[in-house]
Amino acid sequence: MKYRLSDLRILGSSGFILEIKDSRLVFDTKPLSGSIQFISHAHLDHAYRLSLKNVVMSEETASILRAIGRKGDWTILKYGGKLRIGEGLEISMRSSGHVLGSAQYVIDSDGLRIVYTGDLNIYDTIIHEGARPIESDILIIESTYGIPYYRFPNREKIYADIVKWILKTISSDEIPAFKVYSIGKSQEIIRIVNTYLDVPVIVSNPVARISEKYIEHKVSLDYIPINKVEGIERLKQGECVYVSSFKEELPTSRKVRWAVATGWALRYRYPNYDISFPLSGHSDYDGLVRYILESQPKQVYTIYGYAKEFSKSLRSRGINAKPIFEADQTTLY
Ligand SMILES: [Zn+2]
Repeated sequence: MKYRLSDLRILGSSGFILEIKDSRLVFDTKPLSGSIQFISHAHLDHAYRLSLKNVVMSEETASILRAIGRKGDWTILKYGGKLRIGEGLEISMRSSGHVLGSAQYVIDSDGLRIVYTGDLNIYDTIIHEGARPIESDILIIESTYGIPYYRFPNREKIYADIVKWILKTISSDEIPAFKVYSIGKSQEIIRIVNTYLDVPVIVSNPVARISEKYIEHKVSLDYIPINKVEGIERLKQGECVYVSSFKEELPTSRKVRWAVATGWALRYRYPNYDISFPLSGHSDYDGLVRYILESQPKQVYTIYGYAKEFSKSLRSRGINAKPIFEADQTTLY
């Protein structure tokens, strides 16, 4: 099959533009004249150039963005919902398993299917189901951890290590504290503590603001915001865990031990922290490869992170892949 796309290219190092059937669609990057902007999730590296109009996102993403002060007259799409644009162009949304409301976008046109994964996690977590692969002709897949070095331990093992460290720290009458993203990772830590331990979780105000949105969307979380008297009292005495997106000075004379939880912990040391856990909202290398093998695309474009290395590795497995910044041809396969 030959299908002419007038353009498919990357802008800068993040997001891409698709010009198809007289429509200009931009994904996770700045709007262009006459474009429709699609936002995959609320992390600011994907949503920072948010337009006021002609923007599509999930309800959950919109509620998180509003909670952090962003405004706009946005078009809401549900998982499984469809949006028709012009003649014969249909866009639908599925979960990408990354954070609350995170989306994969499916673009169907004249029998051609293009899928953009956004940030992708195929593994089930204590909060979200993992993303399911979607069959496609052309797949644009993130490659944040797209080198074989990044093979994450089993998630239950990481949870167990986190719980053990919390218990050990508490038994020394110290406070275990986590510096993690306010969207996604914070809620996963809160839920781990809620599930496996009978210890209150105190959270910073930004984490509380986002966690409220998770609760509104039926993710059960139990925590005490630090701006409540009860939160301050707990930090001064009694067992507790603290969760914040910043490593900060806490209003207590007790020793605070800080942990960081990120996939990068597999490779990098965090000397300013007491411990690090390789807990990630992304798929590791094996997860990315598994997604591609199950979705069977004819052409793969890699985007973000190790885009070049991941494409090369896929080509060595006989998969037609290139980084999206090399996707400058107008005819695809
Ligand atoms: Zn993200």
